[in-house]
Amino acid sequence: MKRRDFIKTSGMGVAAITGTAGSLLSAPAIASNKKIKWKMVTTWPKNFPGLGTGANNLAKLITEMSGGRLTVKVYGAKELVPAFEVFDAVSGGAAEMGHGAAYYWKGKSEAFQFFTAVPFGLTAQEMNGWLFYGGGMQLWEKAYRDFNLVPLACGNTGVQMGGWFNKQINSIKDLKGLKMRIPGLGGEVLKRAGGTPVNLPGGELFTALKSGNIDATEWVGPYNDLAFGLYKAAKYYYYPGWHEPGPTLEALVNKKAFDQLPKDLQSIVRNAALVVNNDMLAEYTARNNAALKDLVNKYKVDVRKYPDDVLKKLSGLSDSVVAEIANKDKMSKQIYQSYKKFRDNVVAYHKISEQAYLKARSL
Ligand code: CA
Repeated sequence: MKRRDFIKTSGMGVAAITGTAGSLLSAPAIASNKKIKWKMVTTWPKNFPGLGTGANNLAKLITEMSGGRLTVKVYGAKELVPAFEVFDAVSGGAAEMGHGAAYYWKGKSEAFQFFTAVPFGLTAQEMNGWLFYGGGMQLWEKAYRDFNLVPLACGNTGVQMGGWFNKQINSIKDLKGLKMRIPGLGGEVLKRAGGTPVNLPGGELFTALKSGNIDATEWVGPYNDLAFGLYKAAKYYYYPGWHEPGPTLEALVNKKAFDQLPKDLQSIVRNAALVVNNDMLAEYTARNNAALKDLVNKYKVDVRKYPDDVLKKLSGLSDSVVAEIANKDKMSKQIYQSYKKFRDNVVAYHKISEQAYLKARSL
């Protein structure tokens, strides 16, 4: 029997169909007018340019696109939970959503770091290729399922800067004994070079560097580093960010909360994240070069390139650090193999496309 006929014969009116009365129809089958309120906890200081405002954009888009049926309230780091407790808060349901970066959760699984950044790995454009058309997203979802989480790629900063130092880096030996804030796999590479990596939330970097608690720090790039005033705490600004060539940021959704949404709201959440994923990269591309000008001209920052032989040695160390993750467990091996295969193939193609063009442009 067709549903229409059933409703007619059972004597129910329009109210049942629109869900305003106790309905026999299951909730996800029709768009409900029920208002849903979510909390989003983030690893960034509230309203921090690019990263925090990206999280704000995501919340705003979801609220707008759903016509207010799903509203999301954003909390900066420490407002509801500290930056590095975002994963657990969303996993456990204290908040329905989060915004951060997967490499902050390497304590859960080292392989999560592949979903943010790999030293000498994929650029922003290549990360999107791997995630959306190279199987990366499926692996990410599989890896987070055990934690009751749905991951969404939600932002990218593009190639970052190498970081802020108070001494020159002329050889790999200059990294020995260096206490530097550098998260993820980049930190592990620094360790192999004799340094001491530490991870601190962004909001604590300036004080840590200024007070000498750390000798050096990386953060993001000119736009964000200027916002934190890091140039007031260090002399040298090194490039390129070999450790983060195109880090993907993430939105986390509590899986149970996501599964309970009607299909149209699920689509809105997914597509709003996709919009922010692209929008953030555009914003960084536009704003980093303007901020770099200020750092150089106004604040007289000494911008330096890592010597080629330092980069080459770091690249060699990275290869072993990254390959070792494959031996951790079955899932890590799958992620490593998928990433490596994509990287090898895209490097070959980009050698004669992106790379060749950028080289041609600067001839
Ligand atoms: Ca960084």
